[in-house]
Amino acid sequence: MKKQLLASLVSVIIALSLAAQERNAAPVLRYDENHSLTWEEAISFYTDLDARYPEAKLIEMGMTDAGRPLHLFIISGDGEFDPETIRRKGKAIVLINNGIHPGEPEGIDASARFAADILSNREGTKRYLRNCTVAIIPVYNIGGALARSSYWRINQNGPDEKGARRNTRFLDLNRDFVKQDSRDARAFAAIYSYLDPDVFLDTHTTNGSDHQFTVTLIATQPEKMHPEMQDFFRGRMLPELYDRMKTAQKNEMVPYVQYTDRGEIKTIIGFEEHAYYSTGYSALFNSFGFMTETLVYKPYPERVEGTRQFISELVRYTSLNHKEILRLRAEANLLTLNAGEYVLDWEQDTTRWDLIEYHGYSYEETLTPITGRKTGFYNHEKPYTDTIRYYNYFNPSVTVTVPKAYILPFAWEEVIERLQANGVVMRQLQNDTTIAVETYYIDSFEPAKRAVQGHYVNSKVQLRAVTQEVDYLTGDYIIPLNQRANKYIVTMMEPLSESGFFTWNFFDSFLEGQDWYSVWGFESHLKKLLDHDPELRAAYDRARSEDERMAADPVVQLQWLYQNTPVSELEKRTRLYPVGRIMQAGVDIHDNK
Ligand SMILES: [Zn+2]
Repeated sequence: MKKQLLASLVSVIIALSLAAQERNAAPVLRYDENHSLTWEEAISFYTDLDARYPEAKLIEMGMTDAGRPLHLFIISGDGEFDPETIRRKGKAIVLINNGIHPGEPEGIDASARFAADILSNREGTKRYLRNCTVAIIPVYNIGGALARSSYWRINQNGPDEKGARRNTRFLDLNRDFVKQDSRDARAFAAIYSYLDPDVFLDTHTTNGSDHQFTVTLIATQPEKMHPEMQDFFRGRMLPELYDRMKTAQKNEMVPYVQYTDRGEIKTIIGFEEHAYYSTGYSALFNSFGFMTETLVYKPYPERVEGTRQFISELVRYTSLNHKEILRLRAEANLLTLNAGEYVLDWEQDTTRWDLIEYHGYSYEETLTPITGRKTGFYNHEKPYTDTIRYYNYFNPSVTVTVPKAYILPFAWEEVIERLQANGVVMRQLQNDTTIAVETYYIDSFEPAKRAVQGHYVNSKVQLRAVTQEVDYLTGDYIIPLNQRANKYIVTMMEPLSESGFFTWNFFDSFLEGQDWYSVWGFESHLKKLLDHDPELRAAYDRARSEDERMAADPVVQLQWLYQNTPVSELEKRTRLYPVGRIMQAGVDIHDNK
């Protein structure tokens, strides 16, 4: 008996010490030693925070292409983790996404540092949680993070090892936000519609420039917001974030340095934000979106610290201005429900710019050390400050009328899955039905010669709109445009959208057409038609006499007859884009039952 008690006592002690060891085994952040957290270390770091703080929770949400689940870490001041309840309490939600390009890992370490700091109330920052909940995706591209090497991004100044850019399926996840070929993107979409964040940040590293700044910022395109939200963003939120980085953090930040010619930087051009990028995606849901891009040549600890400072400022700002942010977003969401027009594409306004202070390095010419090629470099011995132009205004270039609803045949399963993953509400036809809809014919387009992201992207689309009655089948989907995901729906369903399903080849099979005539017996069938229809006969004769090419070529003559006689029913379906646009509320729907 005594022996047994002793034995169980021993096992309790062993278990306790193992548990203690496990707790102690939480990884220590070592970015100041040029080490970035591995995926396993990141998850164990957040698991430890979850165990230690009631205000923290680590959850799994969805599967990734790496066969491992995506994690989401939520920090909530009152321990309330349900987003709907959080919103009802009038708090704003910030979502931070890290390691989308795991070779650019500063956000992975910076978010871990930030989470530990705010939970432990370092410098009194816990007070920001009163009005703001922070959600963190510790590592988004898990497959890329697992393929760790010291040779990725070879020109980058640390860390000693980093992940690969593409995921396990070789997809660049920062092109996959809307078409969602990866499980990763579908899991992300589920997180996004679950949280519906007011503010969104995606963390990166840039190798596109060289200058004195450590942190550069891509802010979402202001024109995509409604006017009051845009004024707030341009006039208050952005200036304060820039100012706080300069004065409070002593780490002046600059807009993402995008320039046309290598050499001395005289202007910066605003980022063209397609919906397939992270902030393009967040703009579809009226969030305030940001990407930090820290400079590749700065030492890793400085880049992590710069990213952490921006995260802190973003959370501080969101917390202090939560009421205004929530009000503007609620208004934007309301306007989205009723918008009659939608801009599919934008072009830079070359006549408008702002002046900004730029801290650069002189550009000098030199020869490369091995091949002796002529090249240039930014001389760090020669810093300078200049006032330069920043072009960040855009004008609409493609606008569409928003229909009352789209109608999408049941057949297009991959499209339906993606709509569902983005929280799109649809209803299915209960009977075979004929509906008068606006349809598109794709008159011409150009598929890419090389695949991008596994797609031979369609561009240069020319289309023609025709209103006609179309037969639909039981189970086809009606997608009303009176919902939160309106912008996503229009972006994806319109063939002129560079981010849409047509562009990314989801609908390509319809381009091959349905059926075709056979020349065998076709003429004797046509002869009967012409004999009974003198008008048609006259039109045919006229066409043949007016068109030399047609007169000389029997195939062209048959083609004319095919397109202009009642057999053209087949032609009517050729190149007919499968998505119909219902333009009027309460449109006549004839039940075919
Ligand atoms: Zn990146």
